Amino acid sequence: MMELKVFKFGGASVNSSAGFRNVCGILKKYRNTRLMIVVSAMGKTTNALEILLKHYLDNDPILLIESFRVIKESHFKVIGELFPDKTHPVYGEAESLFDQLRGYIRKGHLYDKVARTYDFEYDQIVSYGELFSSCILYNYLNSQGITCRLFDARGLIMTDHNNRDSRVNWEKTAGMINKSVQPWLAGSLNGDVALTQGFIGSDPSHNTTTLGREGSDYTAAILAYILKTSEVTIWKDVPGVLNADPKWFRNPKKLDTISYREAIELAYYGASVIHPKTIRPLENAGIKLYVKNFAKPGAAGTLITNIDSWNIRFPIYIRKENQVLISISPRDFSFIIEENLSQIFTILAKYRAKANVMQNSAISFSVCLDRNERILADLIEELSVDYEIRYNYNVELFTVRHYTAAAINRLTKGRLVLLEQKTRQTVHLVVK
Ligand code: ASP
Repeated sequence: MMELKVFKFGGASVNSSAGFRNVCGILKKYRNTRLMIVVSAMGKTTNALEILLKHYLDNDPILLIESFRVIKESHFKVIGELFPDKTHPVYGEAESLFDQLRGYIRKGHLYDKVARTYDFEYDQIVSYGELFSSCILYNYLNSQGITCRLFDARGLIMTDHNNRDSRVNWEKTAGMINKSVQPWLAGSLNGDVALTQGFIGSDPSHNTTTLGREGSDYTAAILAYILKTSEVTIWKDVPGVLNADPKWFRNPKKLDTISYREAIELAYYGASVIHPKTIRPLENAGIKLYVKNFAKPGAAGTLITNIDSWNIRFPIYIRKENQVLISISPRDFSFIIEENLSQIFTILAKYRAKANVMQNSAISFSVCLDRNERILADLIEELSVDYEIRYNYNVELFTVRHYTAAAINRLTKGRLVLLEQKTRQTVHLVVK
């Protein structure tokens, strides 16, 4: 059987022309194997497209045109630096992608907006980030002597209609991958590269869908599972999985090896290192997952595999800022019973508000949510029909795996703890 590795390059690895050059350099080190590459949008393009989407939905043409211009300029700056020959086909290809996006946001105002949800519009617009970056990477690798074929992920990753968090139809996806990518790889030579976009797919009506923020990791896992590879590498701007985010924690420690279970727990509670759905398919097929630093490609990074989950000797901290703690009590002072919980969860699900931590007492139910201004007012209004709502804005949620008394102390010292919940391995703290 041919040797195949799946690599995912995140936005930070392709945030400049130097980034694209570095990715190409890494690939050249793997000339003795075939590669399946998944690429994210350049740098912070996904955030920039979210802002563009807001201006589009607000019908604000001036800000809309300006945000479009900024995104286009940042991509053409990179193209200009990578392709000195101005007649290179990449110029025309990128231009036509930008034309498509421009066409969409122009015509969009004519569509029946009622039938089109925020989530649907999100997927049609924000998915362009990956289309742009893959167009550049594909052309650049070929220009550097790497034989590369670009597969449009919308022809590979088949999903349902659940925009922004689409569920994968595994059977159809396997059919598409086995029909296109698999035979191409089988006929390719070592050093050849199959490339596709992370994060995006398509629904049964051929509309673009997305897999959730950071979804490119998941794309890599899907491909690895279906192509039956033995390992996947996610290339990031950190040395591996750390025990805390270096942005707020001084000198975090790297975890050398962790279990799939630990990785699922960390991703679920919001460690931004891996998309939560990524691990399951890898665990099911026993595929090793490496998290490595693209700036130090020779370094070991972190290996996520099938090992004893109790090997961790120090606490792992996950911090979620911008939370809101809502406490919900029946208006008639009755107890919280199953019917209430069912009603509350139905409302949370309707707004896709993920309960980051929850707790109930006899007369109230508390839940900590991301402070998402777009939905929060409506959500609270709907809950207020039957319940008395109290809330605390601007709280933080800390989750500590393998906690110690000192670790809890460190986080709570001098602060007000609004909620504390412990299991044997995990503590959640909502603090103000
Ligand atoms: N570009 C998307 C994001 O920033 C998906 C990804 O990179 O995984 O969330």
